Amino acid sequence: LKKTQTGEDMINIIPQPKTFKTDENIKFKQNHRNLIKTNSPIMFSLVENTYIRTLEEDKSFYFYMVISEKAITNINIPALPGMIENEKEGYFLEIDINYTIIASQTEQGLFYGWQTYLQLQQQEIDYYILVIDFPDNEFRGFHMDLRYGMPKFERILQIIDRLANYKYNKFILEYENRFPFQKYPQITDKLSLTPDEIKIINEYCSERFIGLIPLQQTIGHLEYLLKLDEFNQHREVKDFPETLIPFSFNSVGFKFFNEIDEICASDKKAYELVESMLIEIINSHPGSQYIHIGCDEAWNLISCNNCKNNFGLYGRADLYIKHINQMAKIVIEHGKIPIIWDDMLRTFDDEMLKKVNSDVVIMCWLYYESNRNLAKKLIKKYNDSGFQVIGASAAKCSEGPEPQYLDLPWYRQRVDNVFMWADLCDEFDLQGSVITVWSNYSGTIAPPHPFFDTVWYPVICSAQFMWNNNINKSGFEELFLENFFGVNGIKNLFNNNNQKTYTGFLEIVKECKKNSYEAKVMEIMSLVSAYRIKSQAINRELYRLNTNITEAERRIVFNRLKEVKNLREYLKPQIAELLNIYYYQDDIDIFINSKFETDEILYKNYV
Ligand SMILES: [Zn+2]
Repeated sequence: LKKTQTGEDMINIIPQPKTFKTDENIKFKQNHRNLIKTNSPIMFSLVENTYIRTLEEDKSFYFYMVISEKAITNINIPALPGMIENEKEGYFLEIDINYTIIASQTEQGLFYGWQTYLQLQQQEIDYYILVIDFPDNEFRGFHMDLRYGMPKFERILQIIDRLANYKYNKFILEYENRFPFQKYPQITDKLSLTPDEIKIINEYCSERFIGLIPLQQTIGHLEYLLKLDEFNQHREVKDFPETLIPFSFNSVGFKFFNEIDEICASDKKAYELVESMLIEIINSHPGSQYIHIGCDEAWNLISCNNCKNNFGLYGRADLYIKHINQMAKIVIEHGKIPIIWDDMLRTFDDEMLKKVNSDVVIMCWLYYESNRNLAKKLIKKYNDSGFQVIGASAAKCSEGPEPQYLDLPWYRQRVDNVFMWADLCDEFDLQGSVITVWSNYSGTIAPPHPFFDTVWYPVICSAQFMWNNNINKSGFEELFLENFFGVNGIKNLFNNNNQKTYTGFLEIVKECKKNSYEAKVMEIMSLVSAYRIKSQAINRELYRLNTNITEAERRIVFNRLKEVKNLREYLKPQIAELLNIYYYQDDIDIFINSKFETDEILYKNYV
């Protein structure tokens, strides 16, 4: 038990429970408890290997688990507290001298009580604790795409376990070409998941009360399809775009970001393709309540002459509405709820929004605190038009133009973004939000974003604030370090410069009681981030070698080049070793080359 900077009591549990009470005068030996009695078949099977268990036939009006060291008869299980009577995910947990009781209206609530118990048990708690807890939001989502850096199958299951431990209940999985498409197997990448693995992921999520939501793009962001020779003809942008001047001020190039992004909306074969892919995805997720059909950032619609003729030069909204409704219909006919990204709807007026099927759920993605007012305006507009809205924050996203964030997420921004959505969920009574983890900036040629395992700080922050919107924000970093790594006394780590982050994580690598892999990733990646800044500085100075300079000046340049080279040679094998544990060789090559190859080519003539 400790106090946050503003003096509130906190307990080492994430998400922080709504209410708790501790009494350190009531002490006991808690760690030897190995008997479990429950009337929940799900919990009975989940704890299978670690406990001696009894499944009771008790048809009480609620579910319970009793954990004890010796067999106990006649336990008086108390009535559920009023606070959680109407909370289907709520639970009651009491750790006392002789036994622990967890109780809930539902097996899902019981599961969350069990997760809290597991976190406390790891800390070897040996005094009385009472927790009464329930979430603020019913949609607590985590998203990842498998475009680049797909974790090995066992690691995906570990990630799901961790999400469950932090009480996430939705997992949006964007397979891209790592899904085993049957009708068009040529779309599928050789590192794809197998049908059996996808079945196991479905079951694994369901046993942990996580709703798996597959994301299948249907109009834009189909680079993985349109990059293939066989399907390239179905793209919307067929000619290199014309501009009035020979360049555009868009940081990524011409008027159009990416010519293999969208399918042509007038191309029947293209629709047959995306509908076939969508239906295969739906059928592989029989238990999923939602299907995400993407539909974001389709900036190049109505570029081709057929589309101009069919929809009119200014017919983008009509085209888009037709597309959403057509895809939504397929999802709804399969008994599921469609979700779309909101960005293409942002300019829609009420009349246009009225034409969109109102069963579609709108996922509003805004990744910066500076978007707060825009978010409010959009949520209000969508709600007024009768749509359900779910928020989306980012744990890492496109911050490429800022070199220091190519290798480590911009933690202050990421956490502020989580806080923003916690506030908005509260203010607008949203169902909740999802935290997105993007593997690279969309497109097939973009370099990878920071290493996946650098995201746990914002991801677990979102778990905390989706469960508990109004909890104290300033105490989170300390709580995270204690809960996730089991370390105390390290402060102001994530919002600091690379050197502080690096030395902080050097210490955590030595001191941590768990998650040492993630600590090592943070240590190395903070150094890669430092490398990036150094290498970009020396790159700017290289021109000097071809000018009239003195020997002393030349030595400065060469010494800097050598330092950067030494750092690079130090990092490369360590990164490879870390990646090798959970990722495939192809992705390791992409990651390492994307970080260092340009520099190596540039410096080849000098050192
Ligand atoms: Zn077209």
